[in-house]
Amino acid sequence: MCCQESESPMCEDSGFKVNHKRNLSNGTSELSPPRRSKRQKSTTNLKELSSPEASELEPEEFTPALKEEVDDKPLVDTAKEKKKKASVKKPKEDVNPKKARKSKKDQELESMPLAPRTKGLRMFVGAHVSAAKGVFNSIHNTENIGGNAIALFLKSQRKWDNPALQDDHRDQFRKLCLEKGYDAAKHVLPHGSYLVNLAQNDKAKSKQAYTSFLDDLRRCEALGITLYNFHPGSTNQTPLPEALSRLAEMLVQAITETTTVVPVLETMCGHGNTIGGALSEFRDLLALIPKQHHSRIGICIDTCHSFAAGYDLTSPAGFKSFLAEFDELIGIQFLRALHLNDSKAPRGSKRDLHANIGTGFLGLRAFHNIMNEPRFEGLPMVLETPIDRVPGQNVAIRDGAADGSESESEKKKQPKKGPKRPAGAGAAAVPDPGVWAAEIKLLESLIGMDPEGEEFRALEARLSDEGRAEREKHQGQYDRKLEADEKKKAKEAGKAKGQKSLMDMMKQGGAAKE
Ligand SMILES: [Zn+2]
Ligand SMILES: [Zn+2]
Repeated sequence: MCCQESESPMCEDSGFKVNHKRNLSNGTSELSPPRRSKRQKSTTNLKELSSPEASELEPEEFTPALKEEVDDKPLVDTAKEKKKKASVKKPKEDVNPKKARKSKKDQELESMPLAPRTKGLRMFVGAHVSAAKGVFNSIHNTENIGGNAIALFLKSQRKWDNPALQDDHRDQFRKLCLEKGYDAAKHVLPHGSYLVNLAQNDKAKSKQAYTSFLDDLRRCEALGITLYNFHPGSTNQTPLPEALSRLAEMLVQAITETTTVVPVLETMCGHGNTIGGALSEFRDLLALIPKQHHSRIGICIDTCHSFAAGYDLTSPAGFKSFLAEFDELIGIQFLRALHLNDSKAPRGSKRDLHANIGTGFLGLRAFHNIMNEPRFEGLPMVLETPIDRVPGQNVAIRDGAADGSESESEKKKQPKKGPKRPAGAGAAAVPDPGVWAAEIKLLESLIGMDPEGEEFRALEARLSDEGRAEREKHQGQYDRKLEADEKKKAKEAGKAKGQKSLMDMMKQGGAAKE
């Protein structure tokens, strides 16, 4: 997951609505899914979506009804559905809502979502949104970006002590899920705390981690949520098999102490002592968990992590063999969710740097593979891509949103709302959920798109161009690291050789004496 804290005010109305505007000059929504018609080029445009120039758009539909998303529906929603456009609202004066008294109409405009939800798809794309001021706000924030899946923190992910889940927040969450048509048992995937390491070898810390973990699982059950994503943890420099058996023990205990919730282990980038880079580690973990509990364990593929761990998800053949390996080692039935992130760092770099879809080393082709994979139908797919933007600029200011791995922990320490900026400093970056709104539509548009066709090629090239400078920077860093590693290795080998030859000399000398 990305860096924002659950108490971050990122999605409050007074924040981004003013900064985030849409461009609807031609009367069609830039947010509407690109149509499949032959002549029309994709209208999904990340740049325009996060542009400060704007007018407002009417949501395509306000009343959600996602009940019928299952088997009898075609994978690709109908052209008719896709052709439905959001109608255009009259341009609104760019006033500061805090200063100006808002008319009822203005208030209505502000409560309009950034993008309408696409209905009838079998792919459920959403983002890790803010749950500031109550878990139920994650539903509003998801609806705002046109998401069909929800990820959130159930409590602060960086604190051990948290207030209990309030009854009214719980009731509100359940009510809104029903009202808005979100299936909490299928498409809501909370993210666990970064502090929790169930593979912990320190007794007291292990107890603390388990207590927090169990508390989250119980919150899930109170909210009607089945899937709960968390990081497998770290070996803390103990042997991997020992760490895995501690993790397995904790999981069995947690499953026994709850009834329905399914802990879902996230694939990691394999840096340092992090567990979960290689798929074989999940196989080894499952082997330590009695079979009767297996239906209560899941795996979530984080595309950025698994790519950084070394798996090829971009070429269709690589993607196919990744899934074949997953099925062979773990079993595809364990796959319960996906985190969709591109990667700023190259494959195998073991760096956890999330990039916007199509701009990183994974590239749009990887996401075409994903969005057209029948085995991913019905699973929650969650974006954890960077969305902080300086108003008026279109590039993410963060060096990629990290996902809580040890490797990039510094990145997460950036203040979400910095102290007062010195006079003359540029504008502060603010989270712009419009980026997610556009990425959701972009991903949905890939369903059924011909990857050899002009539309896909144009999209792929444009997004790749956007990320070029960033990729070059990280490729350079990676190349230098490999070079340094090589030198270090050669030096060590030289040292060992030196020691060896000294030993030989001594030996020879000794032999000569004999
Ligand atoms: Zn993730
Ligand atoms: Zn994560």
